[in-house]
Amino acid sequence: MKDHIVQAGDPVLRGIATPVAKKDIGSPRITKIIARMKKALAKETFGVAIAAPQIGESLRIFVVSGRVFIEESADDEEDVPTPPDRVFINPTLSRLSRKKAEMSEGCLSVRGKYGTVLRHEKAGIKALDEAGNKIAYQGSGLIGHIFQHECDHLDGILYIDKVVQLEEDEDMQSAREKLKEKHGL
Ligand code: ZN
Repeated sequence: MKDHIVQAGDPVLRGIATPVAKKDIGSPRITKIIARMKKALAKETFGVAIAAPQIGESLRIFVVSGRVFIEESADDEEDVPTPPDRVFINPTLSRLSRKKAEMSEGCLSVRGKYGTVLRHEKAGIKALDEAGNKIAYQGSGLIGHIFQHECDHLDGILYIDKVVQLEEDEDMQSAREKLKEKHGL
């Protein structure tokens, strides 16, 4: 299975991922890896983001599902089209709020669990997009949370390393419901 999501215990999740050379952005190899990431994420009903090591590629890339951005902006419009997934290459966190908050999170590489993690309330990100353009994005709530979780993946860190409370959850749907409650999505 080429597009399966690597599970905790696999060493690829514990390595420091390699930056993508600027000249390689847009190359068939990197384009294919990003396509595999998007495909793997699309299969996960409650998945919001995925990092390259989670498909076995130790590269500094993560993808955030367009679904996240629709939830952020949709107040009354039911039929807004889903925005495209966003790709972040060689990301660095910036403008982390001093204030931290406990949030509930899960991970596609840690099936059947969710936990409470203390993270910065707000986090900015600087990265390159799929075309190699510089992008910057300021995230609060779920998005800021995702940026921190995904950057951790690129440094070999899993949320279970930081968790203050870990719980079993057979059904990722209920973890997702809890996220919604926490973040009002
Ligand atoms: Zn994860």
